[in-house]
Parts: sequence; C-alpha cells; structure tokens
Amino acid sequence: SAFYSSVVAGAQERTLVAVKPDGVQRRLVGDIIKRFEQRGFKLVGLKMLQASESTLADHYHDLRRKPFYPSLIRYMASGPVVAMVWEGHNVVRSSRFMVGDTDSAQAKPGTVRGDFSVHISRNVVHASDSVEVAEREISLWFHSAELVNWENSDQSDLYQV
Ligand code: UDP
Ligand code: MG
Repeated sequence: SAFYSSVVAGAQERTLVAVKPDGVQRRLVGDIIKRFEQRGFKLVGLKMLQASESTLADHYHDLRRKPFYPSLIRYMASGPVVAMVWEGHNVVRSSRFMVGDTDSAQAKPGTVRGDFSVHISRNVVHASDSVEVAEREISLWFHSAELVNWENSDQSDLYQV
C-alpha cells in the first residue's frame, strides 16, 4: 500500500544475490535462501541459469584489468548459478555483512563465506556492493517482468508500520 511504502523508509531497497557455481555444486542454495528468509528479507526474483560470457563480462566490467579476471569469468561460467533479488530495509548493506569478506580467509564465522569457503577464488556467493550497483546488476540479470511485487502478511512484525 501507499501507507506502507511511505512509512517504512528504505524497505523497498533491492539487491542481487547469486549463488555461484561452486555454491550450487556444493548444495548450498537452500542454506543461503534460508538465511535471507529468516533475516526477514523478501524474495522478489529467483532463477537458475548458466550465465553467458557477455553477462559476466558486463557484471564484472570493473574488474576486467585484474589478473584474476580470466579465471573469475571461467569459474562463473563453469556451471549454473542461482540468481535472486531480495528486498527489504538496508538489504544491500545487510547482505554484504551476511555474505562476509570477499577473501574467504578473512570472512567471519556466521557469514556465508566464513562458514562455507576457504579461498577467495571459490567464495560461494555474490551480493551487490551498493544501491547503485544493485540497480545495475538487477537489470542485467533480470527482466522487469521476472520480478514479483507482493506483500508479506507479517510486515508489522518486521517493521514499524
Ligand atoms: N576474486 C578473486 N580474486 C581476487 C579478488 C576477487 O578470485 O583477488 C573474485 C571473487 O570471486 C570475488 C569476485 O572476484 O567474489 C569479485 O570481486 P569483488 O572485489 O567485487 O568481491 P565481492 O564483491 O564479490 O566481495
Ligand atoms: Mg563486488
């Protein structure tokens, strides 16, 4: 409702989270979804796909001159990923905390990377790192018709409405 969207500041922020090919192979999809659900975020988009080189080149455009870029693209194209859009208050920043440090060796226990990975090159999951980047990544990975607008029945348990 208009009331809900005007009162709950930032509750409609969205971010892209993707389980990378290693996370899919290791059967971590369910665990990762569970963490975002139980935190209180709302799933508004979900699909499994094998990413094209062009999507990945666009997605990692800023890293194209890094030495690890070719192996990063090979890794990300090596199998299916599960791409998701999650919505909620401060979801971009909160997701980065939930995912943990880029370098798995630095990622804290309790984070996805800190619980499930040992090396930066196989760090299980992606999450957008700013609101602007999230908007760009969501439109890269999803058509707008693939995103579902729906209301949780328990909003007042999550937010002061
Ligand atoms: N990466 C890597 N080696 C590095 C730095 C990054 O393999 O030295 C990979 C890693 O999979 C990381 C991705 O490149 O998740 C994107 O790097 P970024 O710095 O954007 O980290 P993220 O936003 O994923 O935490
Ligand atoms: Mg990044």
